[in-house]
Amino acid sequence: MMITIKCPKCGTGSSLSLIESTYEGPYRCWKCRELFSIKIEGNELKSCEPLSEEEFERRQQLEALKAKLRKPPKAET
Ligand SMILES: [Zn+2]
Repeated sequence: MMITIKCPKCGTGSSLSLIESTYEGPYRCWKCRELFSIKIEGNELKSCEPLSEEEFERRQQLEALKAKLRKPPKAET
């Protein structure tokens, strides 16, 4: 599933591939490097808020952690 996000700052569109129709997390514009916190529901962009560099990194770490938790741990042999 692909969704196009339009950067509120420079207006550049960017495609984001999603696993689910709902997404909430950090997003960085490839062109102006502006950071945003976005929320997608039902394949539609519901909210887009500017994010600070610090907050962006914090959220990314959180997302990575969530992704880790979603997968069952591999059994070590
Ligand atoms: Zn931009």
